[in-house]
Amino acid sequence: MTNITELSQAIYRVRVAVPVHLYDCFDYQVSAEEYSQIKMGSRVAVSFGRQNVVGIVTEKLSAESPIDPRFKLKNITELLDDQPLINDTVLKLATWSAQYYQFPIGEVMHITLPTLLRQGKPYNLLARTWKVLDLDAEPRVKRSLKQLEAYKILKLHPQGTLETILNLSGVETATLKAIEKKGLIQCQLEAQNFEPEPVQLAQMPLTANDEQKKAIQRILKDQKNYHAFLLDGLTGSGKTEVYLQVMHEVLKQGKQVLVLVPEIGLTPQTISRFQSRFHCNIVLMHSGLNDAKRLQAWQYAQTGKASIILGTRSAIYTPMPNLGLIILDEEHDLSFKQQEGFRYHARDVAMYRAFLEKCPIILGSATPSIDSFHLAEQGKLTRMELNHRAGGASMPKIHLIDLKIAKKQHGISEALIKEVQTRLDNKEQVLIFLNRRGYAPVLICESCAWQANCPHCDAHFTLHKKPYEHLHCHHCGTINRLPDACPQCHQNTLKPIGMGTAKVEESLNELFPEHKIIRVDRDSTSRVGSWQKIYDQIHKSEPMILLGTQMLAKGHHFPYVTLVAILDIDSGLLSVDFRATERTAQLIIQVAGRAGRGEKKGEVYLQTLRPDHPLLNTLIQKDYRAFAKETLKDRQMALLPPCRYAVLLRCESKNQEDNQKFLTEMTELLRQHAGDLIDIWGPIPAPMERKAGRYQAHVVLLSLERAKLHFYLREWWQQVLHYKPSGMKLTIDVDPQELS
Ligand code: ADP
Ligand code: ZN
Ligand code: ZN
Repeated sequence: MTNITELSQAIYRVRVAVPVHLYDCFDYQVSAEEYSQIKMGSRVAVSFGRQNVVGIVTEKLSAESPIDPRFKLKNITELLDDQPLINDTVLKLATWSAQYYQFPIGEVMHITLPTLLRQGKPYNLLARTWKVLDLDAEPRVKRSLKQLEAYKILKLHPQGTLETILNLSGVETATLKAIEKKGLIQCQLEAQNFEPEPVQLAQMPLTANDEQKKAIQRILKDQKNYHAFLLDGLTGSGKTEVYLQVMHEVLKQGKQVLVLVPEIGLTPQTISRFQSRFHCNIVLMHSGLNDAKRLQAWQYAQTGKASIILGTRSAIYTPMPNLGLIILDEEHDLSFKQQEGFRYHARDVAMYRAFLEKCPIILGSATPSIDSFHLAEQGKLTRMELNHRAGGASMPKIHLIDLKIAKKQHGISEALIKEVQTRLDNKEQVLIFLNRRGYAPVLICESCAWQANCPHCDAHFTLHKKPYEHLHCHHCGTINRLPDACPQCHQNTLKPIGMGTAKVEESLNELFPEHKIIRVDRDSTSRVGSWQKIYDQIHKSEPMILLGTQMLAKGHHFPYVTLVAILDIDSGLLSVDFRATERTAQLIIQVAGRAGRGEKKGEVYLQTLRPDHPLLNTLIQKDYRAFAKETLKDRQMALLPPCRYAVLLRCESKNQEDNQKFLTEMTELLRQHAGDLIDIWGPIPAPMERKAGRYQAHVVLLSLERAKLHFYLREWWQQVLHYKPSGMKLTIDVDPQELS
């Protein structure tokens, strides 16, 4: 018997998460010496299939653990780090996320690293400077064009050039190493300082009002434990001041704070508020940074040098040695949920992370998600209200305009036009909101009712007039020429129906010719820096009209806006998605919150064909909380999320019958195993059945018991993948936020 253990003792193995679309980690063999050096959470170069990849060590296996007989053990190629890059907590977080969201572990693990480290670049990359030793060595490199070019670049800067800069100009590290071998150049390491700096107050805190004080004290009572808080406060009620004062206490103890915001656009404002309050290292983590900046920010967070880490969604996976508080602002925002690939919800992952870190988490919003209201009812979140706007400003009043009876010009009611004129005459600003970009959402022939539809989707083309007239499908990106006449009856009777922001801009120019109109949507702000320019203009106290999509609704502070007009939200009231009314209500309140943030009182006008809609009326006559309460009650009655846990399986192929047949078989399989524990809806065609030429179908799983749902889901999903016919694409969405 002894020889088995003896044999296996000789084999040292590590388990490695490799970045491939497979659901397991893989074991690799290492030498005894390597085994003693390897740290969990460090990188190794390994070969996988025919590729060379960078993996992350998730486990060091004991000699007794069984050897997977399916695979021949390979050796690792190279140890890339002598220190762990990912700490234990983030290893656990990523492992949990992969299981919970049913996504390949290796791909999830890679999210925890910045791009350059994923590529296998050395940890000290930013310290590496290359310098020429011999200035007349061209003859010794001229046999290799690559080396010659690199050498010439290096000679331009005899004092040395950063490796990242060289890489950016196309010089590969391997080339540099080859020249180094010839003794012609040298790599110098600049000292990198990752020492944290003490945090100091740069500005006195405001005197908190009673509600703020209560919230701050309540949170601080649990500053050393896991506790989840929901700061439910009106726009402008001073949530940020609460964050700042709680942060200060946490920072004072030498801990780090992670702040998550929904969009890159919101980071400059937030960072400047933090910077004016604290003297400390603050780093930004978002997709807009270049690779080197991202690596640096990540290292500052990972070593503990940075005290405040401000980022978007994926920053939740940043390793931090000393995390003491997580803040997630605008928690209701949909952009915290990744809607493709690894479909995690940063809010839920953040709650789990706070639990692992044993630290408090604050979710903040003026319009908390129904999910969070539900958690608060269950006692899993402690909800705290802020009901007073600082400086005594009141929330704007919302007026409904019945579009069925209103007199209109260009789709805008005359009463509203008059209001806009009054504000402009008073030198105030007006915000006009329409969540639809382009010129018109439909192009129709008035003679024969032909409609311009995308040939690949079940959707209308949107008419755009700029930079030239064309038809654009917002679902698959197809662009078509605008026909000169109706393709069906050949008459010149094509007419745009409905309005997008570009059309409203045109109408406003006619209605208010002497006033400045600024349009903010994806079409007008796509150029880098244009948003900043727009922002600067808005902050001048000049009369103007701001016109835009939901880009304008998010968190921004527009001090001179006194009137907000919402032109059309009816599609949100009629949608088949049960969350659509929630999103619409949030949007209305968020947009409305842009008015009256300065000294003058604000007002809001909302045009609708459904002035009698019950939830809309609760929202307007009472408030968002009353709306949320009723919505939650409705969901409870209908047993919809968050009152049951949901999983959405999306299926896509060239043929809807194939989808239906496959999904019927698969749901039958699940029914046999799970019985009544899981309620299965479908298969049903997706709300947009055909998209980009492919057919979509859905299956929704619902259960009262999360653990059991996940238990069955894990096995079932592997079976589904196993039986999946080729040419069919399947994705799983745990806790889906959208049914599209
Ligand atoms: P929110 O984050 O809830 O939208 P903010 O934190 O941006 O609100 O606060 C709105 C405005 O009120 C800011 O200009 C802020 O400086 C001010 N403010 C917040 N709290 C106080 C306070 N306790 N005393 C005076 N002004 C305050
Ligand atoms: Zn026609
Ligand atoms: Zn299309």
